[in-house]
Amino acid sequence: MKHPTLPAQAALKALLRHRWYFTVLFCLVVVSFSMLPALAQAPDKAVFGHSSVGSVNKPTPLIAPLYNPDSDPFALWFDSPFRSPIAISSTTGPAINAMSGLLSYANPDMVTDSIPDDSADRPDADPALASASSVRTHFSAIPAASAAPATPAIPATPPVKPDKPARIPVLNYHSITVDPGNTATITPEKFAAQMQYLADKGYTPLTLKQFSDMMEGIDKGPDKPILLTFDDGYADNYEHAMPILKKLGFHATLFMSPGTVEDGYFLNWDQIKEMHEAGWDIQPHGMTHPHLPTLNAKSQTFEITEAKAQIEQIVGTTADVYCYPYGEWDATTLKILKEHYFRYAFTIDQGITTPSQDNLKLKRIFVNGEESMDKWRYRFEK
Ligand SMILES: [Zn+2]
Repeated sequence: MKHPTLPAQAALKALLRHRWYFTVLFCLVVVSFSMLPALAQAPDKAVFGHSSVGSVNKPTPLIAPLYNPDSDPFALWFDSPFRSPIAISSTTGPAINAMSGLLSYANPDMVTDSIPDDSADRPDADPALASASSVRTHFSAIPAASAAPATPAIPATPPVKPDKPARIPVLNYHSITVDPGNTATITPEKFAAQMQYLADKGYTPLTLKQFSDMMEGIDKGPDKPILLTFDDGYADNYEHAMPILKKLGFHATLFMSPGTVEDGYFLNWDQIKEMHEAGWDIQPHGMTHPHLPTLNAKSQTFEITEAKAQIEQIVGTTADVYCYPYGEWDATTLKILKEHYFRYAFTIDQGITTPSQDNLKLKRIFVNGEESMDKWRYRFEK
């Protein structure tokens, strides 16, 4: 006799008969639930297959638009202690991560810098996961142009140091007077015309401080620098040169010999002080305008240091720039200048002055008062 089939037995038989269907269904349910926290939490430790799924804190903007745990009932479940056993496998993790990358590529606005890349901190990182991380890094590198706030442009600061070495014409004048045939003199009219030319062409006659700053690369200086020097201290410099330079706002440097101040033909101290107040630098040219190489060391030292001391005491300035009388010097002269901390010394060697020259052998441009204006300007504009 055939026993009647009980409902439980029938159910068991059906279960066994369709066990593969039920197994597949069960697996689908498990996989579906396991993917949701990863989608909610974005690529973090869970994505890399760590068991510490519960350590993820909050969704990043990468996935938030697709899944918001604050409004989804599943969020409560995933925040419960039960979420920890449901770890993302190392197979699904990279797949989800790659998908996140594609999403961020499709919408760069979603890319933020809040995604930590901690793969480098984990020596046990799975190589397969590392490749997934590189996918994320690649897409995260796409600039979020449309989302980034406009950054105000930082105003460019002018360069303090020059981009190329200074080239400074140093003009060498002497007497400003009418003395036909004397190339070292120039008429007041021609001198005035030359100064006006410099003004019209935008030249800036320098102070010695400006000259020094340019030579040492401290300051770029004006676009068209020039240094006006006057040798010997002729009285006509006060009468003819100073008023013109004052009118144009020009600076100049006077190289004078204190031993000549009572001569009458040369400037006296009152005139020199007045010129200094008008913007002239006053510097030594020897006590008596000697041929230095003909003197012994003691006499050279006196000529150089006494001139320096008198100018500094009477004019109240620093006199550490020398000018060789007749352009003559020897090894003893250079040694004395160095021992007394002279910063520069001018010769009568012809050329534009540059920092590449020896500071104690600087070139100048002799102004021949007999020459035309064109020849004069050619010497420093060529
Ligand atoms: Zn001289």
